Amino acid sequence: MAIIKCPQCANNISDKHKACPHCELDMTELTEEKLHSLNKIRSLKSNQTLMTHQIIAMLLFLAGCFSYYKLDDPESPQFVAAQASIVIGFVWYIVNRIRIILAKRQKY
Ligand SMILES: [Zn+2]
Repeated sequence: MAIIKCPQCANNISDKHKACPHCELDMTELTEEKLHSLNKIRSLKSNQTLMTHQIIAMLLFLAGCFSYYKLDDPESPQFVAAQASIVIGFVWYIVNRIRIILAKRQKY
């Protein structure tokens, strides 16, 4: 018995399964072509997720910058929150950028 990754949902499953217990993909009817298109769909989906995260990170960063300049009291909790969201947004953006580059590299 070997552990393989389901081509559709990427969960670890036994190769003895006839269908994936997580997403119910029929393992007996997998052709080379079907595997290829499933892989494509999966990488498109993960790319989309990364893009969405990147946009959220960007918005968080911009919102942080915006409130940072709007607030004049450096002691207020809003000011601290603005600084925190600038830092988190920036780091999150960079991390996503790297993940997108790595994901692209894996394909070729
Ligand atoms: Zn599955």
